[in-house]
Amino acid sequence: VKEIGLPDKAVVTTCAYCGVGCTFRAEMRGEQLVRMVPWKDGKANRGHSCVKGRFAWGYANHQERILNPMVRESIDQPWREVSWEEALTHAASEIKRIQQKYGTRSVGGITSSRCTNEETFLVQKLIRAGFHNNNVDTCARVCHSPTGYGLKTTFGTSAGTQDFDSVEESDVILVCGANPTDAHPVFASRMKKRLREGAKLIVIDPRRIDLVRTPHVEADHHLPLQPGTNVAVLTSLAHVIVTEGLADEDFIRERCDWDEYQDWAAFVSDETHSPERLEAVTKVPAETLREAARLFATGGNGAIYYGLGVTEHSQGSSTVMAIANLAMVTGNIGRKGVGVNPLRGQNNVQGACDMGSFPHELPGYRHISDDETRKLFEDDWGVELDPEPGLRIPNMLDAATDGAFKAIYVQGEDILQSDPNTKHVAAGLEAMECVIVHDLFLNETANYAHIFLPGSTFLEKNGTFTNAERRIQLVRRVMEPMNGYEDWEVTQELARAMGLDWNYTHPSQIMDEIARLTPTFAGVSFDKIDELGSIQWPANDATPEGTPVMHEAGFVRGKGKFVVTDYVPTDEKTGPRFPLLLTTGRILSQYNVGAQTRRTENSRWHEEDILEMHPSDAENRGLKTGDWTKLASRSGETTLRLLVTDRVAPGVVYTTFHHPATQANVVTTDYSDWATNCPEYKVTAVQITPSNGP
Ligand code: SF4
Repeated sequence: VKEIGLPDKAVVTTCAYCGVGCTFRAEMRGEQLVRMVPWKDGKANRGHSCVKGRFAWGYANHQERILNPMVRESIDQPWREVSWEEALTHAASEIKRIQQKYGTRSVGGITSSRCTNEETFLVQKLIRAGFHNNNVDTCARVCHSPTGYGLKTTFGTSAGTQDFDSVEESDVILVCGANPTDAHPVFASRMKKRLREGAKLIVIDPRRIDLVRTPHVEADHHLPLQPGTNVAVLTSLAHVIVTEGLADEDFIRERCDWDEYQDWAAFVSDETHSPERLEAVTKVPAETLREAARLFATGGNGAIYYGLGVTEHSQGSSTVMAIANLAMVTGNIGRKGVGVNPLRGQNNVQGACDMGSFPHELPGYRHISDDETRKLFEDDWGVELDPEPGLRIPNMLDAATDGAFKAIYVQGEDILQSDPNTKHVAAGLEAMECVIVHDLFLNETANYAHIFLPGSTFLEKNGTFTNAERRIQLVRRVMEPMNGYEDWEVTQELARAMGLDWNYTHPSQIMDEIARLTPTFAGVSFDKIDELGSIQWPANDATPEGTPVMHEAGFVRGKGKFVVTDYVPTDEKTGPRFPLLLTTGRILSQYNVGAQTRRTENSRWHEEDILEMHPSDAENRGLKTGDWTKLASRSGETTLRLLVTDRVAPGVVYTTFHHPATQANVVTTDYSDWATNCPEYKVTAVQITPSNGP
């Protein structure tokens, strides 16, 4: 077999990068992974893949992997390798010591959207049942928490409404604040195929993303809005639809709360929300906006896809609800080809949220203050649960700098690099007495850690991920864990050291517990997923094989809810010192803070973050492509090389945040979404000046 180059064995598993959830056949020779082949039967990818899933797995064997637990007395001391038993016993005794000294709520934990459902479920269970509080959060806090709030409020559940197949029946595709070509490439290809077949395209984005004009695809309307004005643009679209008599009143009367609709319709109809009146704010030509509104309302099946350009704003939740309003007023919910579809950045954002890793919700989006739900979990877990919602990530950091929050367990998340206002994150971590980092590498957050627990890659574990279309897929162990343990086992051992009697022997048992306690997962098991290939929740007696399209007969909450979303400008203002607006995003070959992709071959394509600036702004500053620039804001400053391009509008600059050398988040602000505290990464007032380099 080896002589003709065929693998010794192959295992089908799921990509650990973005929310598309491609499946691959991982091919092994001996103990070496040699190839990731896109799996033709993959329900989300049908044999396709992007560069990250196909090639960016070398980090699993990278020399910087930490394989032994380490401890140190203080962050200025060197690390000392210890046994797993010593590290976990020390971690548990530190948590207990701190709780005795400062109170039960002085500790907490963060889990990651890169971990499996079973791992995130166990972390929130550890915090609730072992730490006896609800100070648990997930990195979805900094990306799609407004989706959770907005879609639950309007539709009744926190999830995208469609499967990916649905796009093949769309007539008009509206992409708002998302760049699928770079961030969700395999789904972008399906979207482009539909566009080449004749579907119309509306793009709402401050930047001329690839979809606006790419071979054989050109947007019918690009609305290049001023960063921070999403709500104004969406309200203007609604204004045109309602005032020109284009609302689908039959749908609204049947499926939505009519009284709430009338209040909302009166609000959006006000002349102050017309495209002409708002043009000075949004910078979108009024006639372009009117034509886009008419197209979306009258063009047939209208589907909305959105990303972090919607959620990462001080009005992130309002924008999600404005999108839901737009879908309902045009009757674009509850069948193939339509819907509201958040494109999840990380592989398991949907799953991490489903699993109750928010400080106010138990698994299945049920509020912790609900006595009946809490009792269900208390009876199953044999502990009493705290009914008070806990702290979100930014609140934990604020409480740490105030002296009230003293210890944190961080699983699979580099908050120092990924969260806004790096100085504030560092101050919060430095103020804690015990920081436990559970990760693959000594990341930036680990600079402030006292205990380091080595993590395992997706290739070394069993479990499930849930992609952006609610599709639960198996992650199958391809190789033995290099550190000896899967991540769920580490959390279990920490729980045992805390005194909890946990005895899971396989993650399938954790999924059985999730299914037992969560009605939308009632019909989910590893065996069932294996048999069907995947299951889209809700899956229970009513829909045993899952639910590709939600809200078909009625909304989860009953009647769809129109919510008045008044545009409120962000407090982040430009001025003479900081005259430009910075917005951020991702590129195809890198992934988030780059912990994995920077440690693979393909990172050679993009070895640094680049600042994009319009030619007129560059000329005013005497700058040209390749020059070093200093990017400064009210929060901090960094150094970047310049690309002069008209992809961005005058007054707007853009960069990515993949490299720690840049640390783009040193400049981002403390402003956040009013409902969820999701940071406003997408709007920062900045000044750009020439620099001699870092
Ligand atoms: Fe992985 Fe997303 Fe690329 Fe698919 S599109 S291979 S899930 S990164």
